[in-house]
Amino acid sequence: MRILVQKYGGTSVAGLDRMKQVEARVKKGLAEGFKVVVVLSAMSGETNRLLGLARQWSANPDLSECDALVTTGEQVSVTLFAMLLKDAGIKCRSVMGFQIPILTNNNYGRARILEIDNAKLLDMLNEFDVLVVAGFQGVSCHGRLTTLGRGGSDTTGVALAAALSADVCEIYTDVKGVYTTDPNMCSTARKLDRISYDEMLEFSSMGAKVLQIRSVEFAKKYNVPVRVRSTFCDDPGTLVTQEDELMEDVLVSGIAYDKDQCRITVFNVMDCPGVAAAIFSPISDAGILVDMIVQNTSRDGRTDMTFTVSRTNLEKTLEILSRDNKDIGAVEVQHDLNVCKVSVIGVGMRNHSGVASMMFTCLRNENINILMISTSEIKITCLIEEKYLELAVRALHDAFGLDRAGGDRVC
Ligand code: ADP
Ligand code: ASP
Ligand code: MG
Repeated sequence: MRILVQKYGGTSVAGLDRMKQVEARVKKGLAEGFKVVVVLSAMSGETNRLLGLARQWSANPDLSECDALVTTGEQVSVTLFAMLLKDAGIKCRSVMGFQIPILTNNNYGRARILEIDNAKLLDMLNEFDVLVVAGFQGVSCHGRLTTLGRGGSDTTGVALAAALSADVCEIYTDVKGVYTTDPNMCSTARKLDRISYDEMLEFSSMGAKVLQIRSVEFAKKYNVPVRVRSTFCDDPGTLVTQEDELMEDVLVSGIAYDKDQCRITVFNVMDCPGVAAAIFSPISDAGILVDMIVQNTSRDGRTDMTFTVSRTNLEKTLEILSRDNKDIGAVEVQHDLNVCKVSVIGVGMRNHSGVASMMFTCLRNENINILMISTSEIKITCLIEEKYLELAVRALHDAFGLDRAGGDRVC
């Protein structure tokens, strides 16, 4: 049995006309001899609308109820789409996460997939030509509905492709593929034909929401070829795949940005063993990801600690810090919401120096102040003021010649 997994995002299913375009793509897959597993997101805006309702109803919405609420967005998409296919005479059925089941842990809002029963899926595929699966959702060992984090339908798609050893996982969205930077922010962004799993991981973790990071982790772990393409044209899109020698020739493959950031500074903490642990352990115990961290040089046995968290986690982080204030000897905590991250990414950086200084020089030329810096083997990230974001992305894109194939990117 040859299996094709196709995932369609919110804009691709937002209304009858668009779903008709999805129907045409599914029919094409069938005509090529595949059984098709179609993973759908909620219609665009629906998940936000449902989360807004939860906040209207409760000051502090219960997370498990929130997950049960937002899964209805995907349920609407898959049932309506299955009706369309049935009217067209296609043997299909809608499938919710709990019916497979896609078993997850009970970390509501950001649950991780633990297991997918492929025997049951294969049985269903023997009976039906198309399965229309609700993305983004699973079920915990306690039988409660869970969701996989924002953008989680990508992960459902790739995880199902891995579980079914599908030929490929196609991710259909509203842009033609993965670009050198967000094409909606930079008009000279260029579509990449291929990108390695590692680079895509950096793109996603640095904020490029075209693929959810966990979907790329799955793809890399199980070696699933992923093709990102547009629902609305026939461009072949971008293949996310294993790294090869040609890719290493490329010094910088793109620029990513993340607006969902805030900077927190804890002033005047004691500079002694255990202080970083005292600050960050309770934050991490609360499931909050801390990204960039800088500790200033010490004066009179005291220092300042600055770090970033996502804006959604700001309140909780401040609450934890005020609770633990006495243990760390801190006198003041400040936060700043007007910041964002911009990152330069490329596997070629492993073997070449000079990218960081080029990035810093480019930002200086635009008179953009760097607030914090962090690096990995294949990326350099700067925290800057949010008002400079578009300017920084465009200037860096230009400085690294990313609008030209090859361009200055090849050493
Ligand atoms: P979907 O609803 O189909 O899942 P998303 O909105 O989650 O779509 O992701 C697609 C969006 O990702 C694009 O509209 C684009 O603005 C954004 N994006 C950010 N960085 C990139 C990039 N490097 N390449 C392509 N798209 C990007
Ligand atoms: N509907 C969910 C969201 O908006 C999942 C997805 O679209 O991938 O985050
Ligand atoms: Mg998405």
